[in-house]
Amino acid sequence: ERPRLIDDEEGGVIFYSSSPSTSSGFGYATIEKQRQRLPVYKYRTAILYLVETHATTIIVGETGSGKTTQIPQYLNEAGWAEGGRIIACTQPRRLAVQAVASRVAEEMGVKLGEEVGYTIRFEDLTNPDTTKVKFLTDGVLLREMMDDPLLTKYSVIMVDEAHERSLSTDILLGLLKKIQRRRPELRLIISSATIEAKSMSSFFQTSKKRKGQTGEDLEPRTDPAILSVEGRGFNVQIHYLEEPVSDYLQAAVSTVLSIHDQEPMGDILVFLTGQDDIDAAVQLLTEEVHNNRKHSGLIILPLYSGLPRAEQDLVFSPTPRGQRKIIISTNIAETSLTLEGIVYVVDSGFSKQRFYNPISNIENLVVAPISQASARQRAGRAGRVRPGKCYRLYTEEYFVKEMSTQGIPEMQRTNLVSCVIQLKALGIDNILGFDWLASPSPEAVIRALEVLYSLRILDDDAKLTSPTGFQVAEISLDPMISKMILSANLLGCSEEIITISAILSIQSIWVSVRGSQKELDEAKLRFAVAEGDHVTYLNVYKGFLESGKSSQWCYKNFINYHAMKKVIEIREQLRRIAQRIGIALKSCEGNTEVLRKAITAGFFANACHLETFSKGGMYKTVRGSQEVYIHPSSVLFRVNPKWVIFHSLVSTDRQYMRNVTAIDPSWLIEAAPHFYEHQRGNPVAY
Ligand code: ADP
Ligand code: MG
Repeated sequence: ERPRLIDDEEGGVIFYSSSPSTSSGFGYATIEKQRQRLPVYKYRTAILYLVETHATTIIVGETGSGKTTQIPQYLNEAGWAEGGRIIACTQPRRLAVQAVASRVAEEMGVKLGEEVGYTIRFEDLTNPDTTKVKFLTDGVLLREMMDDPLLTKYSVIMVDEAHERSLSTDILLGLLKKIQRRRPELRLIISSATIEAKSMSSFFQTSKKRKGQTGEDLEPRTDPAILSVEGRGFNVQIHYLEEPVSDYLQAAVSTVLSIHDQEPMGDILVFLTGQDDIDAAVQLLTEEVHNNRKHSGLIILPLYSGLPRAEQDLVFSPTPRGQRKIIISTNIAETSLTLEGIVYVVDSGFSKQRFYNPISNIENLVVAPISQASARQRAGRAGRVRPGKCYRLYTEEYFVKEMSTQGIPEMQRTNLVSCVIQLKALGIDNILGFDWLASPSPEAVIRALEVLYSLRILDDDAKLTSPTGFQVAEISLDPMISKMILSANLLGCSEEIITISAILSIQSIWVSVRGSQKELDEAKLRFAVAEGDHVTYLNVYKGFLESGKSSQWCYKNFINYHAMKKVIEIREQLRRIAQRIGIALKSCEGNTEVLRKAITAGFFANACHLETFSKGGMYKTVRGSQEVYIHPSSVLFRVNPKWVIFHSLVSTDRQYMRNVTAIDPSWLIEAAPHFYEHQRGNPVAY
């Protein structure tokens, strides 16, 4: 039996999943049959009844039970999208939004972008006249509230993956609770793989009875309904390491190879942390396959957000007979996406997580241990189609004694500047008094207010300034980037700064896997300038345009062609937003000083000065005196200018600055006289 291949209307090929039936020997299954076999199908009537009669319904069900793909369809079938209304389903991750929307369009037999559409930042594939079921990131839905505070287009909003407790999910839940009071007809569904349904339920419990509610009217009940979908996962055998390992990447690679040598067929899902270690593992395994005959029959695929569409599709396509697929993923495959055919899971025990220190005002993307709850989810991915095995690359003792039981909500470990702006723009002034599912720390809120004040986005009364604050809210990027764009308007370099902003909003424009680090470094040198990474990016962009947007040119220069095409798209969108808020599009014609001043105007808080050339060039942040280093991927690595500002920090063995530009220290005081003062000729933070 072979899975069907169906051409989609754009000429690409969409693969139908081999579905549970392939492995359990039922033969072909029509889409309808496949849908009916999902655990959630038995609850279809119950779900529709609860949604009809309750303002809020909480649905808990194991990953793969059909929550995300089926419930929006049930609602549509039951008429919730009639009369021009829309059913929304939010996801914390962009890639999940795209993948799920295209699956649902397939199941409904419609073209993606019509009845079923999706919206993620910088990409809107919906049709205002025809879209009935819309998938979107929770961040995009928050953004929509600025234009339509009560989200009146939507009849039902399903907040999916609530257990992830992303920052935007938490903000959204707080706001939706407010909206519900004004729109009793709105229905909420909160769904997740694991949830403390009790705390979610008590959050949505409204103690006060609404005015006019007498019991006999048709208004929904305000106490939330809870429904648990019984899954049917298979047993998963857990294997621990006997001794801890220091290099999880190497351990993952050898574990994969030994599974392939010793275990029966079945796909392998490996959890690593991010694009860099995933690409490295893909490369190591690919080399192994090349060098060793006995490893033939392996298909090695990466999975992380930002992956081009074609590569995403490969991940979901069925494994050809006699071969074994190895998917190396971030924690996106933990609960957001269902991959068929996985029998073995290799769990590194780590994921990339954001941590914010309000004292130093430094936010870090850190490779950190996952929680026991996450480890259980990861293991569960091995039991979708038959009993599976999970190889944990840590010891049992570590699992029991060192791993926390639950993760910390993102709200309590990130920088809150964007969150504060969003709430302020919606007229919510008392941030600490907001109805939070889990309160942020007062220090983090105060620090966010301070930063926004220093950027002149908030005024003395902590209200959005006009026009800057409102413009920044409208641009809806990282406020520092927005501020940089606004300053570029005054300095006459908006075209260039918009290009830079577009490049900064994607992960990386360089190709890191092909060839050696040395070749990549040489390629970078062709564009590198002493001013730093930002101006270097402009050179790459210029080169790409001059090449006629050629993929050949990208290949030669170790530049990611798909990333560059994305940059062009994002740039166009930013230009439109800029024009809408009254920014004149103007080029500075190669004057890099004004460019760097505009960058400084946004990122002055990230200023550092060189302390010593030893240790490869150690810097300290002007504010907070944190020890930081230039990341090896920066063109300024080993160049070590005296004063720099950076875009972000990553920490591994040290704190590394990514995207670094050399500045003149006097610009700091010029850009932020309220933040820096002179001391013996140099700027110091107040
Ligand atoms: P949940 O949201 O409960 O985790 P989903 O609705 O995402 O579950 O998935 C339900 C089922 O739909 C999966 O078990 C799988 O069989 C199928 N499925 C989902 N997404 C895809 C896809 N992109 N390709 C093929 N099959 C898919
Ligand atoms: Mg789901």
